[in-house]
Amino acid sequence: MGAKDFLLVGGGVASARCAAMLRKQGADGRITIVGAEAEPPYNRPPLSKGVLLGREDPARIYPYPQDYYERHSIDLVLGATIAGVDAAAKTAKAADGREFAYEKLLAATGASPRRLNIPGSDLNNIFYLRTLPESLAIKGMFKPGRRAVIVGAGFIGMELASAFVQNGLETTMLVRESGLFTRLGSARLSKFFEDYYLSQGVKIVYNDSAVRFEGGAQVERVVTVQGLSLDCDLTAVGIGVAPEVGWLQGSGVELSNGVVVDEYLQSGNPDIYAAGDIANFYDPIFKKRRRIEHWDNAIKQGELAALNMLGQNVAYDTVAYFFSDIFDLSWEWLGDNSDIDATVTRGSLADRSAIIFYLKENRLKAAFLLMQSPKERLWVERAIVEGLEFGPERQAKLADASYPLDAVISAQSS
Ligand code: NAP
Repeated sequence: MGAKDFLLVGGGVASARCAAMLRKQGADGRITIVGAEAEPPYNRPPLSKGVLLGREDPARIYPYPQDYYERHSIDLVLGATIAGVDAAAKTAKAADGREFAYEKLLAATGASPRRLNIPGSDLNNIFYLRTLPESLAIKGMFKPGRRAVIVGAGFIGMELASAFVQNGLETTMLVRESGLFTRLGSARLSKFFEDYYLSQGVKIVYNDSAVRFEGGAQVERVVTVQGLSLDCDLTAVGIGVAPEVGWLQGSGVELSNGVVVDEYLQSGNPDIYAAGDIANFYDPIFKKRRRIEHWDNAIKQGELAALNMLGQNVAYDTVAYFFSDIFDLSWEWLGDNSDIDATVTRGSLADRSAIIFYLKENRLKAAFLLMQSPKERLWVERAIVEGLEFGPERQAKLADASYPLDAVISAQSS
């Protein structure tokens, strides 16, 4: 194994997993992680779930203990941002002037929350959620009876509404679309989430967003496009993120909805790779470009980039999943249902145990799993990756919750 120098830009789990995989594979060069936050890499999913509910100790969100990096000779440079890359000289310069030489560079700077730039946006108690300090600041606002308005009903909005209500806050969601989680492309799921949220006491305002925040030093009211005036003690905004690519401008690397990379996560520059939220990668399973903003993908791509930076040529061959925990429900999603011609339901949403399979020409393309175990998720992943065929008879078996999924697959594999 040659002693290459690896520079991993970004202090999240993609870089952490990449560094760990590099060492596991025997890389003996210098490995440096440069992260903008003061914290070592941590898992973000608990920030909008367990941490806010007091069920997860913030000290336990780190994938590796603090001394792991030192023990594995991984240099952690925290609180530093890379400002630019000189791809010809193979150096990256930090905003504070420090220079890092590399032989292989991983771009894993993730994404930053989009800001709502409207009058009053600089008032206090308007929160965004991406980092541990932001999660703890929101948690510090919890007091039963306080009124919260959430702008946006994506992952942050949905999970915050759940955490707010469970902490006794009166919660209103401002939803730009005409249904909840319309991005899942399923009117049935939107209705399911709507009924569920209403039953938990969340107020939902559709086809509306904020035009103005009002108050003295802190936000007291959200005025909406439709003309509502919603009194509040705090506001949380979750209106999506933008990939952090500015530091790669001028490097020659193609930037378009993130960093453009192939199925090996390699950019047009053979020494520069990308992983996680920032990677606009070619997905050979769905045969199209995708950019996935979820934890599981960051982990898988960080590790895959490590293998490829070591010259192993392993193509992306997995289906990343995402999951959410809301109130007493857990759900997961795998795949892409943007082009499907059939759905099959196993179990029932009303009974809170279901899998909705999305198919195209009898091949499984995506699935929504409600209150299932990792076993079902792994089964779905395998069925999608292997392109297994589900003709009418097998679709009937999929729909029969008493028929084991393993038996459906083994029947096909034989
Ligand atoms: P998101 O999931 O992309 O959802 C953003 C939502 O805000 C969309 O519904 C969007 O509607 C809406 N929106 C956009 N502009 C708006 C505006 N001006 N006014 C009102 N609504 C507006 O983003 P997010 O909820 O902010 O989450 C941030 C990131 O964290 C995402 O990458 C997400 O994947 C990640 N995250 C993931 C999880 C998980 O995997 N469980 C949990 C938390 C966070 P349109 O669709 O109409 O644009």
